This record gives sequence, structure tokens and C-alpha cells, in this order.
Amino acid sequence: MACVYLLGAGPGDPGLLTLKAKRILETADVVVYDYLANKAFLNFCRPEAEILYVGKKGGDHTLPQDKINDLLVEKAKAGKVVARLKGGDPYVFGRGAEEAEELLEAGMDFEVVPGVTSAVAGPAYAGIPLTHRKYASSVSFITGHEDPDKPESAHNWQALAAGTSTLVFFMGVKNLPHISSSLIANGMDPETPAALVRWGTTCEQTSLAAPLHAIAEEAQKQGMRPPALLVVGQVVRLRETLGWFEKKPMLGCRVVVTRAREQASSFLSLLEEKGACCLQFPTIAIEALPDYGEVQEAIGTLAEYDWLIFTSVNGVIWFWKELQRAGLDSRALGGRQVAAIGPATADKLREKGIEPDFVPEKYVAEHVVEGLLARGVAGKKVLLPRAEVAREVLPRQLREAGTEVRVLPVYRTGLAQQGEEEAQLLEDLQAGKVQYVTFTSSSTVENFFSRIPAETIAPYVGTSLRLACIGPITANTLQQYGFTAQVEPEEYTIPALAQALEEDCLHFRGQ
Ligand code: SAH
Repeated sequence: MACVYLLGAGPGDPGLLTLKAKRILETADVVVYDYLANKAFLNFCRPEAEILYVGKKGGDHTLPQDKINDLLVEKAKAGKVVARLKGGDPYVFGRGAEEAEELLEAGMDFEVVPGVTSAVAGPAYAGIPLTHRKYASSVSFITGHEDPDKPESAHNWQALAAGTSTLVFFMGVKNLPHISSSLIANGMDPETPAALVRWGTTCEQTSLAAPLHAIAEEAQKQGMRPPALLVVGQVVRLRETLGWFEKKPMLGCRVVVTRAREQASSFLSLLEEKGACCLQFPTIAIEALPDYGEVQEAIGTLAEYDWLIFTSVNGVIWFWKELQRAGLDSRALGGRQVAAIGPATADKLREKGIEPDFVPEKYVAEHVVEGLLARGVAGKKVLLPRAEVAREVLPRQLREAGTEVRVLPVYRTGLAQQGEEEAQLLEDLQAGKVQYVTFTSSSTVENFFSRIPAETIAPYVGTSLRLACIGPITANTLQQYGFTAQVEPEEYTIPALAQALEEDCLHFRGQ
């Protein structure tokens, strides 16, 4: 393995990281990253990896370039596998080459993993292809960072202005008036289409277009700030027809997800697919029980049970952990009937090779019990693996119907520890930057309000901020804090909640 990998992190959309970059992040001892690189990638790193932020934001260098170089050399010399993660592509205005030269000089090995540069991806997400047989047969990548007061420009403005090339300027927002006037002064048609793409490929993407002579003024009018790319050329015309990403229904909409980190991923990907910006604020931590003696004992006597009923994805996960610990697998359930309360739990069982015998159409205790009775559960022995503390309705009703139920705690939930997320969320809530807080169980409501006082969000609720609940029980708990849920799906599932959020968001955008 080489010592230092110069990794392209891509333009922002986490899906645009290369497989190779991901593989290296998963094995690196040290990860050194920049401001523009998406932080989501840090989840790929090993828990014991040393993660160092050296980012640059505008002029404010957290660590000067020579110190970054020294750091890379120092870590590599210590025998570490170092991943140097840089926004976009490391060799496109990323000073990656300088870092490589330093490493070489210090006698260190390095490899480069190219990334998807924002210059290609940002315009693509804004509906602008950089080349097109009709409009442009070449592309130039140009730094827009030049000091306009410098007497000698490094750019050959005349050549840039005269070509039919698509021009892509990096770091050009501040110099926009200088760039557009230099092009026009050197003979470019003032009517040439131009566009700015800000935070391309991320949930915060925005873009705007105007003729070259008006682009600086338009940018100022719309408050366009870095980081953004300026694209100049006939291809910009295609934005009108080929735009797709900015049509996502929830683009830019900020949604707080309070589910446990372990459970949040399907909800997050549904929302992100719709363009939403998700803020994870896990209120619940899923924890192991202090002792699994009882679970092991129950697993040893599985054959005595007629039915196993799983009420949550976590119930399945933790039960299977214990099966495995006992040296068993799904075959241990052979001959038992299995029920899953809810589609996500059913899918988790399928992952384990078990096709559930019963999944209720709606998760209301009465419904569940009715369905189970229809399948002859009365008089039978039922094992119910679940959380240590959970609602008693299901076991009670099953017992009333003449079933012998053994509740088997396999995990517990606790209050999640919060770090910097809490301060950040409070700041965002108070700045009116959050559109939705989502609650997917009563405990998410209770735990959320044990961290964020109801009075803090009360002024925003119903105006800039809307509260979403997965179902009536959760909404009821919310009522106890004085709030009525503005969003509540008809079906009590995560996909239905995501859909309801989308509809609500569209409704409010439309107004
Ligand atoms: N190596 C990076 C570029 C680094 S220079 C790459 O290949 O993309 C930083 C400049 O890149 C910013 O000032 C901005 O002009 C541009 N940039 C980076 N990410 C961007 C994004 N997501 N959307 C728009 N511009 C971006």
C-alpha cells in the first residue's frame, strides 16, 4: 500500500464518491480533509482512524498549505496510511499537485484517486452539459481568483473571449464584474449565455442564468455567494430544457430526523432522494442489555413456541445477534410461525431468510391481534422479542384472546448523547432555517423535548417550522407538549411519512 492517497471527494453529492476512494477511506489510519469535502464520507472511516480537518473557507485557512504538506509527510513517515481528501478532483484547482511534489521530495509514496470535479458535475446537475455537438466542442477550466488589480493577467482574455469553447470559472463570484467585463472588452458577445451554479450537486444547489453583460448584476440581486461556478457559453441555453436536479420536490428543504442513528438510514435516503437536506438529531440510542442470559435461555427452548412475533427492525437485529452467539442461524426458527408488525420489520426478516407468515396491513394493535387470531394464534405459545420498555397493548390483547405470551427484551433504548449537533440545531431553528422536525415514535418526541425546550421552538411552529409525526400515538405525545402535528400520513410507515412531507413541502412552495 502507498503511504499517501490524494483522494477526490467529488462535488458534494455523497453518491459521487468513487468506489476506490471509498475503499481507501475504509482502510486509512489518518484522514485529512478540506472544507468543501462532504462530511458524510467520514462515516466510512474506521472508528480508530485519526481524522484531521485542515479546511479552507474562502481566505480563512485553518492550516496554511505548507503546514498541510508537513502534516502529510509527518504522518506518512510514521508509517500511516494517509487519505488526503479534497473537494472535487484533487488536481483541479485543488493544490493536489503541490502536495504530491512535497511528498515526492520527502521520499514518500503517493497515489492519486481522481474525483468528480464540481466543474463537470455542478453544471450537469443544473442542466448544462459542457460540450454539445451544436454549441461547444471544447471546454476551458479557469481560475476566477485572480487579483483584478494585478497589471499582468495570467489569462489570455483575448483567446478566451474569441473561442467557441465553454468557459468554466472556479472561485469567481467575487470577481464576477471583472471576469464578465474582461471577456466583453476582449470581444466576446455581451449576449453570450452565462450561468452560476452554487453548491452544485448538494441539497442546497441553486443556479441562475443571464446574458454575460448582466450576470454580475443578477448575481448581486439574487445574493449569490461562493462557492459557485460560472459557466459561459452557448451550452448554457440547454439549462432550460435539460435542468432536472432543481426540480426535486424537496430541494433545499431542511428536515430534522430524530430517529436513532442505526434506524435512520432508510428515512434519510428517501428524503435525500427527494432533494431534502437532512439534519440528523438522533434522540434515541439503541443499546445492548447488560445481560443476555434470559435471551439465551429462550433461544435454547425455541422449539416450544408456536409463534415468534417481531415488532421492530431492532428486535430482529438483536435477536439474530443472540442466535449467532448461540451458534445458531435462521434454521433455529424452523417450524415456528413468524409475524412481522410492519413492512420494514418484514424486510429485515427476509434479509435473514425468513418469509413472515403474517404482516398486518395496518399497525393498530386491534388489527394485529385480529389478524393473528384468524391465523389460529389463540391457545398457542408466542415469543415476543422486543425492546425492554415498550407498549403493553399487544401482549395484553393477545393474552386476553387466550394466547400464552412471553415478552423477551433483546435490546433497550436510551437517551442519545448529543455533541455539537445540539448547538447547531438550536442555531438553525432560531435562524428559521429548519422547515420540518420529524417524530417517528413517542420516545423521539419525549427525548427531543428533553433536549430542546418546547418554548424555544414554539415561536416558529406553524409558520417557518412544521412538525411531522408518523402516526396518531406519536401525535398524541406531541400534543402533551402543546403542539399539533402539521404532517401526519394515513399509513404509519416511514415511506408514507416521507411522501406526506413531500406533499406538504410542495403545497407550501406553491403558495
Ligand atoms: N478541486 C475542486 C475545486 C477546488 S477550488 C473541484 O475539482 O471541484 C474551489 C472552487 O470550486 C469553489 O470556489 C467553487 O468555484 C468550486 N466548487 C467546488 N465545489 C463546488 C460545488 N459543489 N458547487 C459549485 N462550485 C463548487
